[in-house]
Amino acid sequence: MVEHAPYPQQPDDSRTAAEATGGERLRRIAPARTLEFGEHRLTYLPDGFVQLIPGAWFPETGGADWQRHTGHLDDAGYLVASVGGLLVEHRGRALLIDTGYGPRRTAPADSYPFLGAEEGGRLPAALAAHGLAPGAVDTVAFTHLHEDHTGWAFAPDPAGPGLLFGAARFVTSATEWQGWYGAPSPAAARHLREHAVGAADGQEVFPGVTAWNTPGHTLGHTSYVISSGGRRLVVIGDALHSAVQVERPDWRVLVDSARDVSVETRLRILRELSVPDTLGFGGHFADVQFGRVVTDGSQQRWEALDHQG
Ligand SMILES: [Zn+2]
Repeated sequence: MVEHAPYPQQPDDSRTAAEATGGERLRRIAPARTLEFGEHRLTYLPDGFVQLIPGAWFPETGGADWQRHTGHLDDAGYLVASVGGLLVEHRGRALLIDTGYGPRRTAPADSYPFLGAEEGGRLPAALAAHGLAPGAVDTVAFTHLHEDHTGWAFAPDPAGPGLLFGAARFVTSATEWQGWYGAPSPAAARHLREHAVGAADGQEVFPGVTAWNTPGHTLGHTSYVISSGGRRLVVIGDALHSAVQVERPDWRVLVDSARDVSVETRLRILRELSVPDTLGFGGHFADVQFGRVVTDGSQQRWEALDHQG
């Protein structure tokens, strides 16, 4: 495999308008943050982060591409990806979409050649700070079953023989379950025998939340559409890993199972996000996770919610 280095920041300032708008938020990980959304309360629970090496993650891109999108890169030249889960609360019930890495700290030298450092471990504390016990989560839904999305789902309950989220049904598409390597522990296998749900395209998995098949990153990859108060919010999952892909959905991704299918899926998601009163949540989108797609002429870009008002 070709060795890729990150692209350290250049002193010139050729960032696009979207990057200037996002500013530092494009280059840092997201804190815990709540969005009141109709009858739903949406809270990002941070677990950690992963650094993506841009020219390796998008193998068809080079330094000239990143000169044009330099605002997305941190000072060391990495694309910054937040890792965590989205808590969805509705009338006393709680759904958690994706569960972060779980405890982990991996140095760049010990990571995959397309990654820098990986770190997880904060999600239970973020949930506690929000005032919720893991046992109050009745549904865990996965966009897909990669380790930065399933970590805490299969963690043991420190107080008992089961899992930390042992009161929850575990939901993802049937295709995603079928393509999985399998339960990582006997406790996880026991839990899944009774509590695994394979959601169909369009199926409601929680009040106001439906599954949406968005294959490509994995064959069973699933986004979730939250409808509330006359608006919709699309939980994008890893169909897009970075806000830069709103501008360049055509960039193929090294780790996608079906790279060309992913391009089609990204275009489909961006069309959906262009419908009025539709927001998006990109879990890996640095500190610009909640936002919308806006169109300037022929160019689309990501506009983060400012969370100020
Ligand atoms: Zn991911």
